[in-house]
Parts: sequence; C-alpha cells; structure tokens
Amino acid sequence: MFVSSPQRITHLIAGSPWEGTAERTSPVYNPATGEQTGALDLASAALVDDVVATAKAAWVAEWQHTSLTRRTQVLFKFRELLNERKEEIAAVITAEHGKVLSDAIGEVTRGLEVAEFACGIPHLLKGGFSENVSTKVDVYSIRQSLGVVAVISPFNFPAMVPLWFVPIAIACGNAVIIKPSEKDPSAVNAVAALWKEAGLPDGILNVVHGDKEAVDALLDNPDVRAVSFVGSTPIAKYVYERGTANGKRVQALGGAKNHMLVLPDADLDLAADAAVNAGFGSAGERCMAISALVAVEPVADPLIEKIKDRMGKLVTGDGTRGTDMGPLVTKAHRDKVASYLDVEDGGAEVLVDGREADFDADGDGFFLAPSLIDKVAPGMPQYDDEIFGPVLSVVRVASYDEGLKLINDSPFGNGTAIFTNDGGAARRFQNEVEVGMVGINVPIPVPMAYFSFGGWKASLFGDSHAHGMEGVHFFTRGKVVTSRWLDPSHGGLNLGFPQNV
Ligand code: NAD
Repeated sequence: MFVSSPQRITHLIAGSPWEGTAERTSPVYNPATGEQTGALDLASAALVDDVVATAKAAWVAEWQHTSLTRRTQVLFKFRELLNERKEEIAAVITAEHGKVLSDAIGEVTRGLEVAEFACGIPHLLKGGFSENVSTKVDVYSIRQSLGVVAVISPFNFPAMVPLWFVPIAIACGNAVIIKPSEKDPSAVNAVAALWKEAGLPDGILNVVHGDKEAVDALLDNPDVRAVSFVGSTPIAKYVYERGTANGKRVQALGGAKNHMLVLPDADLDLAADAAVNAGFGSAGERCMAISALVAVEPVADPLIEKIKDRMGKLVTGDGTRGTDMGPLVTKAHRDKVASYLDVEDGGAEVLVDGREADFDADGDGFFLAPSLIDKVAPGMPQYDDEIFGPVLSVVRVASYDEGLKLINDSPFGNGTAIFTNDGGAARRFQNEVEVGMVGINVPIPVPMAYFSFGGWKASLFGDSHAHGMEGVHFFTRGKVVTSRWLDPSHGGLNLGFPQNV
C-alpha cells in the first residue's frame, strides 16, 4: 500500500471549514486502490462542546423562529441542488466507500426522497384545533423544535443515512450536528456545502468529524436534546443507554442479519436474481442486504445452481469502471469477511470462494468477490454473525414453519423477505414474522421516505423509526394549549375541577 500526499479533511462549523490544528487524525482510503487519500481531523471533546454552543446560538437567534415559508424555501432549494449534483456526490462516495457509481447514485437518490418529503413540512407540522371544548374554551396542539440534535452515521451509506434525518430535523426547526463515519467522511462535507448554498443560516448544520471521543461528548452535552444513531448493534446499544441516561431522546438503529425465505412454489429465476442482487449489491455492506438464504426443501439444489450461474457473470473491481461490485471499505474489514470462508470440516460447504477471483482494478484494493456457502446453520459464525460482506449463506429447512422459527429466533429484526406465489403464505408471513421491514417477492424492502425505516429487536434501540411521520415526531415535541377568552370579564373564584360545560 502506498501513500501519496493525503488531503486534509476537516470539520464544517457555522458554514466554514475549521481552521484549528487537530491533535489526532485518522487515515481515509480509496478502497479500490488501497491508497490513503485523506487525513481526517478528529474532534476533541472541547471542540464538540464549542460546536454545540455555536449550534444552540444559531437556533436561539434565528432558526427556531424562522417561518415555515422560509424554511420550506431553503428545503426546496436544497432539494434542487442535491438533485443537480447527485453525480458529484456519488463520485465522492465511490472514492471513499468503494461502492460502484450506479449504486452510489441510487444511494443519493434515496436520500433525496427524504428531502422531498421534508419539503412538505408545513403540512406535516399542522396541529389540531378543537373549538369550544367547554364554554368559550378552545384547545389546540402544536409541535415545536427541540433545539440542537445530533446525527451519528455509519460508513455504509455515507450520504443516504445522514439524509434520513438531517432534512427532517432542519425542516422541524432544529439545529443539527452531524458526526459522519471516519472511514468515508467527505460525502457529508459535500452535502453540507449544498445546505449553505441553499441559504441555510450558518450554525444550523455543522459537521464534526471524530471517533468515540466526539460521540461521547455529544452524548454527554446537556444541550444536545436528541440523538439519531445508525451503526452496529453493540455501539447502538451503548449510544442508546448513555444518551437516554443523560435524559436525551435517542433512536439508535443497529446491525442486521436478513433472511430471505424461499418457498417451493416460488419463481426460482426471480428468487435467484433477488438473492444475488440483495446479497452482493454494495459488496453486502448494506444493513438490508440478504445474508441468509433460507431454502424450503426441495428447492435448495435448483436454486443454488441458478445463483451460481448468475454469480459467474459478476465482475468485481474498481467502482468507477462500470463493474458490478466494488471493494470492501477497509483492508481489516475485507480480511475479517474473508475469514468466514474458512469453514470447519463436516459443517458448512463453500461453493464459491471469492478469494480466488480476478479483480478489475489497479493497485492493492480491498477486494473479495461474491462468495456462497451452503449448509450453514445456527451455531456457526457464518450464521450467527453479521458478516457485512459479499458472503451469502444458504440454510436448508424442511418447512415454512421451520424457516419462520429460524427468522424469529434471530436476535436481529431489520429486514426479511419471502419469495412465493402463494398469497395466503405471504400474508401469514407478514403477520407472523418478527421483523420491522418485510418484503414479499421484494428482497430489500426499504420503505419510501413517507413511510418510516426501522427494525425490531437488536436492530433498533428506542421507539422511533427513521423518517416519515415518526421522524417528524422524533424531531419535535408536542404542546397543547387550552385557551379561554371571556367576554366581558373573568368568571370569579372557583377552586373546583372544571366540569367542561
Ligand atoms: P459502527 O458502529 O462501527 O460505527 C457507527 C458510528 O459509530 C460511526 O460514526 C463511528 O464513528 C461511531 N463509533 C464507532 N465505535 C464507537 C464507540 N466505541 N463509541 C462511540 N461511537 C463509536 O458501524 P459501521 O461499521 O460504520 O457501520 C456498519 C454497521 O451499521 C452494520 O452493523 C450495519 O448493519 C449497521 N447499519 C444499520 C442500519 C440500520 O438501519 N439498522 C443502516 C446502516 C448500517
């Protein structure tokens, strides 16, 4: 691996790059070449506290009072800019994450949909009004902003995951601090620049780069009112516990192990296409990737043949070259994912070993080609762990009931899918499965922006899912006003509880 003058990547505070000198930095790589391309400034706790104060001042001075009309104008402008520049943002994603360009454009597009949803904020924030609940007494409900909120995001969707939260938080009148993944931080900086161009006042969106020190400072600062976190399950649980212990509202989305149940009556060509797309898209580094293919016998053998046939056609390599699948995010992660292909004798069987492939790339990228393991079962690390790479495991089961039990016994509950031509079986599955997002003949059932995204069990800590109306509720708090205007005078002394007449 060679190092050629890495670019400095720094925080964006109140609309400008930070001009201080970082005590600590972290390397950023182009995973397709293995080259270190960036050196990222890591924030100290003291810097985080300064940024929270900056954000709070901007919220107090202006944004909490800015009219819905003005806020909506900024959102529409941001939406236009993001749409115009989505290819530029996608190139930034590919350069640090490694996913192929077409997939990176797809990621930005899904984020754009949340910005479009947030453009409807005047309608979404409409309160209720009841006239004359008692004589000359009216009651109305409103939702107000929280103040400063933090977004802490993972490496695998460097643009889309922040966009699940930031447009809605801003539309609701909050000031936001975002702490992106230190592995691919530049996409957030690029999107933050668009907010400034759209006319968002300085201080309402701030980007703080960092690691555990920055996250802990956000979790401990009393002026941070809410935290939206997305990442692995152990860190999600930690963030939820520490944030809520400090009195914050927290939604912490965690890891996943998504199962695709294929019934014997399914269209096997459709199921094979779906398993390959959902297993190997973005090199399996999606929280909604299919990791366990649960084949109800006798379909395993014919389904595996169709999947192997499709896998043989995939080209793995540099995501800027029109390949099908890019590298993994870091060398350490690639090595860990590859280690799952070392199976114990007599247990699982590696049918396609991605370590043996050729890659369309220059340099020393972090590649592993699509891999397939058969006869995987609970108790094996290939089944129990969230591999988060291009390794698809086949689990053979005898019946729908056995497959359902397997899925419901998993500690994770992010996404799942059933492939069948039996409407009754599909309906039973959607009712019985203990998972937050369910696909019926759809392998990656990511909800649209106007629905909410979120898993169950160890895939989400907290009770709010991301975006949709749950997002609007998460980033606001309710207030109910009871009002009486008497004419011509007040009603005199009365210590009794009102009878509402
Ligand atoms: P991660 O948990 O390592 O990191 C997520 C964030 O937490 C990053 O910003 C990181 O800097 C910070 N962090 C890491 N270690 C920390 C610590 N000890 N203390 C405080 N903060 C810490 O996750 P990742 O590897 O970046 O992302 C992949 C994971 O995210 C996978 O498990 C994937 O399933 C999950 N994910 C879940 C969803 C979902 O919607 N449920 C979506 C995307 C990704």
